Amino acid sequence: MYDYVIIGSGFAGAVVARSVADLGKKVLIIEKRSHIGGNCYDENDENGILIHKYGPHIFHTNSEEVYTYLSKFTKWYDYSHEVEANLNGTFIPVPFNLNTLKIVYGEEKSERLREKLISEYGYGNRVPILKLRENTDEDIRNIADFVYENIFLKYTMKQWGQTPEQIDPAVTGRVPVLISEDNRYFQDKYQGMPLEGFTPLFEKMLDSENITIRLNSDAKDLLEFKEDGIYFENSKFSGNVIYTGAIDELFDCKYGRLPYRTLRFDMSYLDKEEYQPKAVINYTVSEDFTRITEFKKLTGQKSKGTIIMKEYPMEYTGGQDEIPYYAIANEENHRMYNRYTDIVKQYDNFYLLGRLAEYKYYNIDGIVEKALNLVKELEK
Ligand SMILES: Cc1cc2nc3c(=O)[nH]c(=O)nc-3n(C[C@H](O)[C@H](O)[C@H](O)COP(=O)(O)OP(=O)(O)OC[C@H]3O[C@@H](n4cnc5c(N)ncnc54)[C@H](O)[C@@H]3O)c2cc1C
Repeated sequence: MYDYVIIGSGFAGAVVARSVADLGKKVLIIEKRSHIGGNCYDENDENGILIHKYGPHIFHTNSEEVYTYLSKFTKWYDYSHEVEANLNGTFIPVPFNLNTLKIVYGEEKSERLREKLISEYGYGNRVPILKLRENTDEDIRNIADFVYENIFLKYTMKQWGQTPEQIDPAVTGRVPVLISEDNRYFQDKYQGMPLEGFTPLFEKMLDSENITIRLNSDAKDLLEFKEDGIYFENSKFSGNVIYTGAIDELFDCKYGRLPYRTLRFDMSYLDKEEYQPKAVINYTVSEDFTRITEFKKLTGQKSKGTIIMKEYPMEYTGGQDEIPYYAIANEENHRMYNRYTDIVKQYDNFYLLGRLAEYKYYNIDGIVEKALNLVKELEK
């Protein structure tokens, strides 16, 4: 009856579903949550303010193909994301740039440092702090140390639950300084928010006579991997199965649970027009949470009150209400991941796609592109 069974209705599953449905294929989507959209799902809270239930999502890409594809399902609110760090009450733009330099070092000193940075690295460039550290000029090395101590270190310790010694020097060195006054967090060609929200974008994408969606259904209860093939609801299924969930959970974590970082979100309504200068403020030297998002500043919504959300990173333990958010990339974890993929290798109609199934971080544009490419491969 179906050509495709797709597990998960986030961007990975939804893009494949719509693309193959447009080619005339019959698709069944299995989604264990009570809604579509995966982690990009948004909804109005009780005050009528649009919130992102699983953390703030901002669309950005340099890919014409991805932008054009998603634009079939939404118009865009023209939003350029800017982030500031709260350094004990002083707000500074991040990534560190020439505007940050001025706030941190004052008018006079920053002018001198600005000239040094520009003559050394050229205006408009993005320089990793590793490079600044290699400079013989002490002032320039001090900028690198400032960025490391005040923007990177504590934030990273909170995000990944690491001590300074555990932080990979290769990652530290990549922290950028922007030799320009560009305060945008992303420099991508296209950026913005779906005008009506992410959920309406998904609703439109999945609105096809060839797509059936089953919510509140866990694939684990429906799929079986037998010697002679994959079974779906007790019958052998020879169409394609696209799986976008966590692979360890599909096999009852029999080789161990793949480690992730999860997040606790603390949401509050405030009876005031606005709370903070930008949509996202990072807490890089104080507090237990990493950042506060004020949603109306992302979406441009006008409302009397405002909603803010604090993010507390934590270890993922597999508890009922926990969601695995960030895969922890290291050799040991990848070895475990590969043991799971070895189980499914023999099934040539089974495909792993997405941030969970591939145990890998993707931005929205990255996973949309990967999904479009998979369809080209399957339907060529
Ligand atoms: C906090 C946070 C903020 C982010 N912000 C941004 C951002 O600003 N910009 C950006 O580009 N990207 C951002 N991302 C990345 C973005 O969330 C991902 O690119 C995107 O969600 C990947 O889509 P996906 O379909 O792979 O996964 P998901 O969105 O997680 O979708 C997977 C779906 O599969 C379902 N599922 C899983 N297992 C099963 C099962 N056994 N049975 C049935 N259904 C199942 C899940 O319920 C879920 O709906 C952010 C990520 C995080 C964690």
